[in-house]
Amino acid sequence: MKKEAMSTSFNLEKLVRPNIQALKPYHSARQDFSEGLLLDANENSYGDPIRSSQELHRYPSPTHPRLRKRIAQWRRVRPENVFIGVGSDEGIDLLYRIFCTPGQDRILTTPPTYGMYRVSANIHDIAIDEVLLTKDHFQPQVDQILKAVTDHTKILLLCSPNNPTGNTFERDRMRELIESFPGIVVVDEAYIDFSDEESWASEVNTYPNLVVLQTLSKSFGLAGIRLGITFASDAIIDYMMKVKAPYNVNKLTAQRALEAFDKMDRIASNIAKIKKQRSTLRQQLEQIAIVRHIYPSEANFLLVRVDHARKIYQKLADRGIIVRYRGNEPHCDDTLRITVGTPEENERLISALKQLTE
Ligand SMILES: *Cc1c(COP(=O)(O)O)cnc(C)c1O
Repeated sequence: MKKEAMSTSFNLEKLVRPNIQALKPYHSARQDFSEGLLLDANENSYGDPIRSSQELHRYPSPTHPRLRKRIAQWRRVRPENVFIGVGSDEGIDLLYRIFCTPGQDRILTTPPTYGMYRVSANIHDIAIDEVLLTKDHFQPQVDQILKAVTDHTKILLLCSPNNPTGNTFERDRMRELIESFPGIVVVDEAYIDFSDEESWASEVNTYPNLVVLQTLSKSFGLAGIRLGITFASDAIIDYMMKVKAPYNVNKLTAQRALEAFDKMDRIASNIAKIKKQRSTLRQQLEQIAIVRHIYPSEANFLLVRVDHARKIYQKLADRGIIVRYRGNEPHCDDTLRITVGTPEENERLISALKQLTE
């Protein structure tokens, strides 16, 4: 299907659950007034006990306009294209709640991929259809995916760079899926800043069915503040705003996120260091006898096939070195997923692996 055909034939309301279309959202006090004599929200007028300068006795903004504007400028979209939530996981959860009727609708995933797509679907009683990535290059099988679509398939989840394999999906394959899939296509870009690929975020105004997930958990180094970002059309973002908890993002998180956007130099420099260490770590791993294969990675981790992966995983853990065993995932027999560390951390890992295999 051509891009133009897609945008004209796409009908968002046909995909949204009827109860969500009819939803009258909770109207929070801080939506109307945030200044004046505030006796409207049953906050504690005597202040917060730690005397924070952030007025923590007051509810946060339900919409965080400053932060969303900052994010929009950064990714060259409009603030109306930006939703912020408690990690990407909230974005996934909300999309399921908006589009998928429990016990009836289905999502499509492409294993091996991020486990939360499945867990969240299980929580909501949404059925999952799976079309495996290709065995050797971990690419989505476009024809098979489109063949697997049913009348109840609402969402396709693509993760690029993919966790746990580390590779990006070919842009042409993704474009074909976005243009031909009859539902919502979610592109999870948690690792995009470690990649040479361009983000799809700026295309959400071209493709009305495209949703892009990003997060401050990885490249920004802020997993602890729990801030996830969803980019989509104004209409989809409106639905997310309607369905979210009224005050999902707290003041402390929003404040820290804004501070981080003033530290883009440091973020860029850490990304560069991680990319450099990624290639150093690869070279070091290649020297180790039990290492069978190291997959290409555009993320901050390497997927590595080793002899007796399960045993190696355990022996590393016994030495206090924790990696992720991924050998239970399809096409991933005997693999470990190893996060790129600092030079010191990587050397500790390498010397432990050498000791284990002597
Ligand atoms: C780490 C990761 C996330 C991040 O989730 P948050 O809830 O934002 O911390 C999202 N998607 C993938 C594929 C990930 O690996």
